[in-house]
Amino acid sequence: MPELPEVETTVRDLRPQLIGRTIQRARVTWERTVAAPNAKQFTREIVGYKIIEINRRGKYLVFSLGRTTKDGGRTTGDGQGLREHSATYQIENRKFLLVHLRMTGQFGFHAPRVKRDKHQHVHLLLDDGRELRFHDFRKFGRWWLVDNPEHVVGKLGPEPLEMSKREFLKRLRERRGHIKPLLLNQTFVAGVGNIYADESLWYAKIHPLRDATTLTDKEAADLYNAIRRVFRKAIGVGGTSFDATYKRINGQSGEFQEDLRVVGRAGEPCYRCGAPIVKTVVGQRGTYYCPNCQRVE
Ligand SMILES: [Zn+2]
Repeated sequence: MPELPEVETTVRDLRPQLIGRTIQRARVTWERTVAAPNAKQFTREIVGYKIIEINRRGKYLVFSLGRTTKDGGRTTGDGQGLREHSATYQIENRKFLLVHLRMTGQFGFHAPRVKRDKHQHVHLLLDDGRELRFHDFRKFGRWWLVDNPEHVVGKLGPEPLEMSKREFLKRLRERRGHIKPLLLNQTFVAGVGNIYADESLWYAKIHPLRDATTLTDKEAADLYNAIRRVFRKAIGVGGTSFDATYKRINGQSGEFQEDLRVVGRAGEPCYRCGAPIVKTVVGQRGTYYCPNCQRVE
């Protein structure tokens, strides 16, 4: 299931393929994939937009789109026409396409004549003749075409790789409850999911059920450093391809599964102390930790 490093890798893989491309035709074959506007409106509205930038916010991909005018931006006619033209340009100039991959969403490039697969739910024909398809086996992935991305991502907490230690500590001190569910709460910090929460807590030697209010400043700082270290390393190797729900655009796997310290290692010895790693359930999520290095009290 894609988390921050996998979404970041997807963004980086898509940039050279998509920036500067114009969307010539759109088709949605599973309407619920498009959260806003409705699928019919989406296929009409997105046509003619050029992809200007691709960024990430939390676990969302954010495509900045700009309209290209038919005359290549040249203005013709009298002053009246120019004003009208500018007005239209301002309104149509920018839109944002946001995509959340959720559990199994993946992008792929295909020749338009290649037969559609029943798990491909959105199809964008590009001006270079290729078709960008959204493959989503579980169908939880969502797309939004909006004027303002804040309507979708406005409530997200700060980016862990951009926030200061001080800010992290301040935000932590405003919260209560178990630390692992707090890390998964996207309004607290954006982008942390199940795998990286467990890995970060292991590095920081914090039990997933510790109450956030009981963490010392040192533990909180260790956790902050651990999250950033794990994310930087995972981004560097293209993310984690742990359970086949995530592959890179070119079909390659990420490599961070080789670096996992606790996730998927139930019963195997802790890399730090040798105690067997335990798997339990915290907030309905499978959770791995070392019972010796990560104590509740
Ligand atoms: Zn241990």
